[in-house]
Amino acid sequence: MLQQLVQSTIDRKVAEFHAHELPKFNFDKVSVDSSRNERLKRAIDNAVVRNDKGRQLKMLELPDSDRIRTLAGDIKQHTLDYLDYYLIQFTANVEKRGGQVHFASDGEHAKQIILDIVSSASVKRIIKSKSMVSEEIELAHVMEAAGLDVVETDLGEFIVQIDHDKPSHIVTPIIHKDKESIAKLFSEYFGTPYNDDPEALTAQARVYLRDKFRKADLGMTGGNFLVAETGDVVTVENEGNARQSMTTPRVLISLVGIEKLVPRMLDLSVMLKLLARSATGQTMTIYSSVFGGTRSAGETDGPEAAHVVLIDNGRTEILASEEYRETLRCIRCGACLNACPIYRKIGGHSYGSVYPGPIGALITPLMQGLEQYKDLPNASSLCGACYEACPVKINIPKHLINLRRDVVKREINHPVERLIYRAYAWAMGRPWRYRLASWGQKTTLRLIGHKGFVRRLPFPGGGWTQVRDMPEPAKKTFRQLWQNKK
Ligand code: SF4
Repeated sequence: MLQQLVQSTIDRKVAEFHAHELPKFNFDKVSVDSSRNERLKRAIDNAVVRNDKGRQLKMLELPDSDRIRTLAGDIKQHTLDYLDYYLIQFTANVEKRGGQVHFASDGEHAKQIILDIVSSASVKRIIKSKSMVSEEIELAHVMEAAGLDVVETDLGEFIVQIDHDKPSHIVTPIIHKDKESIAKLFSEYFGTPYNDDPEALTAQARVYLRDKFRKADLGMTGGNFLVAETGDVVTVENEGNARQSMTTPRVLISLVGIEKLVPRMLDLSVMLKLLARSATGQTMTIYSSVFGGTRSAGETDGPEAAHVVLIDNGRTEILASEEYRETLRCIRCGACLNACPIYRKIGGHSYGSVYPGPIGALITPLMQGLEQYKDLPNASSLCGACYEACPVKINIPKHLINLRRDVVKREINHPVERLIYRAYAWAMGRPWRYRLASWGQKTTLRLIGHKGFVRRLPFPGGGWTQVRDMPEPAKKTFRQLWQNKK
């Protein structure tokens, strides 16, 4: 009875969710709103600062973490430079072990492949473990819309699913939520009394999910790495739900981006040294699962049919550009998010994509189009903390500057912005022009200022004063003071 009630609530909420049109991405508005949300900032700050400190301490345990990061970056770069070769090797090895590899050119193609597998295997109940790629293509929504009983089994993703929310961090999807809001959600969803004890909340989810695990026909996983020489998919996690998703159901689908390959098991050991340390400040995650192929005769666990769906979805375009290719090295550890002062202020939802933070500001425009996400390369102070944190040494600040250059070159920035920079270039061309411009600027700002501050700059500078104090300029300019001194 309780099950039926919960299921009908899911169905109703899912229908409402699909009927609701998602707003267009407006970085300016969302980031300003988020930066004013003190509760959000507190929740994010607590978790990311903890993870960032944990990373720094764990890295000290390695004999020479900088060289290991260089090695990891080199391994990923080599794999990307010869990706065609390693994709063929991986495919052959999966097939040798009874699995099937499918190539999907984009999100729609991947969804179609997966729905075809689901239909040919007469699947009704699906358990899903955490996968950023499936978030990227919004797979769960499509499955729900197709009438399938699909449940996210990672606790954070489960909360995202029942709250019809979006993840706001690559590793910890509900970093923006505090325990009170989760307790309220559980109380409404399960119809049980409010209880904000984290252990009780976890136990409640566990009971619900256990039943789903037992009855599932199909398990879905992502993949942190793919090993070309063996045809294995590798997942790292702390809850054991990915391992259960791959061992319990009769059909298994792993949806993974083509860039996740490493050549050999030996290379995997380098990556595993860095991933957990960078992500959560752990030496290793609780579960590191290496799996491939179907259940062999005599084995009690494992799928009867195993599929790996390798998705492109804009990745080969990045691969083709030598300038930005290294961005595909990313192992989605989230360290750059934790280190980023901008992410800490505005949170993950402000980036308008499943990939937030510095790496999101980079790969979202590259994968989904610079026109739509032209503001994201500016969502950075270029302090370099992300580069310092990155275990595969992606030079994120350099690429963000290059993307800003591309925005200007392609003239997709705001026409007023272009006009301002032309005026600036004109003013900087001659000393008298500079003097004239600074006099005009100083006089205007002093006129509109009040009690030493300009409360709101006129267009196009209004964004600056939305979240900052703007002091009035001094009565005398630096040049005047300098001349008086002489
Ligand atoms: S860019 Fe580097 S630090 Fe950021 S998520 Fe990717 S691997 Fe981690």
